[in-house]
Amino acid sequence: MEKVVNLCKRRGFVYPGSEIYGGLGASLDYGPLGVELKRNVKDAWWREIVTGRDDVVGLDAAVIMHPRVWEASGHVAGFTDPLVDCKSCKQRFRADHVQGPRCPECGGELTEARRFNLMFKTFVGPVEDTAHVAFLRPETAQSMFVNFRNVLETSRLKLPFGIAQVGRSFRNEITPGNFLFRTREFEQMELEFFVRPGEDDHWYDYWRQARFEWYASLGIERERLRLRPHAPDELAHYAKACVDVEYAFPFGWSELEGIANRTDFDLKRHSEHSGKDLTYFDEERRERYVPYVIEPAAGADRSTLAFLVDAYDEDQVEGEARIVLRLHPRLAPYKAAVFPLLRKDGQPERARRIYDALRKHFSVDYDQAGSIGRRYRRQDEVGTPFGITIDHDTMKDGTVTLRDRDATTQVRVPEDRLVEELRARIETPAA
Ligand code: ATP
Repeated sequence: MEKVVNLCKRRGFVYPGSEIYGGLGASLDYGPLGVELKRNVKDAWWREIVTGRDDVVGLDAAVIMHPRVWEASGHVAGFTDPLVDCKSCKQRFRADHVQGPRCPECGGELTEARRFNLMFKTFVGPVEDTAHVAFLRPETAQSMFVNFRNVLETSRLKLPFGIAQVGRSFRNEITPGNFLFRTREFEQMELEFFVRPGEDDHWYDYWRQARFEWYASLGIERERLRLRPHAPDELAHYAKACVDVEYAFPFGWSELEGIANRTDFDLKRHSEHSGKDLTYFDEERRERYVPYVIEPAAGADRSTLAFLVDAYDEDQVEGEARIVLRLHPRLAPYKAAVFPLLRKDGQPERARRIYDALRKHFSVDYDQAGSIGRRYRRQDEVGTPFGITIDHDTMKDGTVTLRDRDATTQVRVPEDRLVEELRARIETPAA
């Protein structure tokens, strides 16, 4: 884990937030390569869930919603963690994280557990009174329920159909940590898939499998992925069933995503609290009912971390140690890097031309500094899957070498076929 964190800092994936002011606990900033990686994760999700299907549409809703949304959803009353305070050292712990009645830091006596709401509070407008309290959303899901009617009326969707969103959520976590795993602001990738009651078990199974496969198709080792069903006493009050996709992080098996059968709980609650009809008329069955919903809820930052950790490797190439990020080409920040072998004989100019042409299609880097071996190492370390070298032969016959990051093999490819060659390789799913 430490190696991944160091690499992230050194190569511009992730920096400590507000670093020049000493940092802010569990606040992290994505640097130039991190922002590309995370964007690719979100794009891969969007392509799989929204644009790749004809039964799901997207949404991008406001972070600050009407405060009554959170009453209806149960977050005002129930989105809490039990906390205990140490009477001696005054430290605060999550009650379910301490074993026994004494403080894990100093052995002091602990208070009774008190409930602490995880929602960030703010005020809308210039008056800071209770009438103007609002919350930063702790999940993106509620906007899909709140917009259920709008989407139904403005699209021609029929059940089963889904509404998906990628967006920022906020939770005042008591024990954030493990780098990107748990922070106080993070991005979620959530789908609410509305189905006919009675068909919910089928769709729950479907999404459970589909979501597991998504991580594997983007290169995560299957042995480090598992589906863990929630025990009955672990289920959220609204859920009929829930399963987590977990990854074997260096700090233990931990949740990447939860897939829940939320039944008709949310639409019913919002209907009661808003007084609006959120039923669906099923023309085929000639009946009106409140749909059930299956929710795959993933975290963009958590999955980015899993992709990074899983990709990190150290090996030897021609007797030399290297660090290599074996990221799936679709996720890699740069798809290729272009190198002139020599800084003379017209090679840099030719390489620049190739670089400019490729950049119209992919995110590509250019590097002419240092030995070719060092340039390969630099790209291996940030996961660039393909290296393109312009050499003496390029100037004669228009071919370049195409080097594969993982196999470290090279083939010669005509310069004018590079876009096709790269595209084919990038699109191949992991075995
Ligand atoms: P946990 O038990 O780890 O607190 P959760 O079960 O409360 O997570 P959900 O409410 O199901 O999480 O949220 C769906 C997804 O959002 C999680 O699987 C995770 O990927 C992501 N997520 C939730 N909280 C955080 C956080 N504090 N930091 C980063 N990602 C988060």
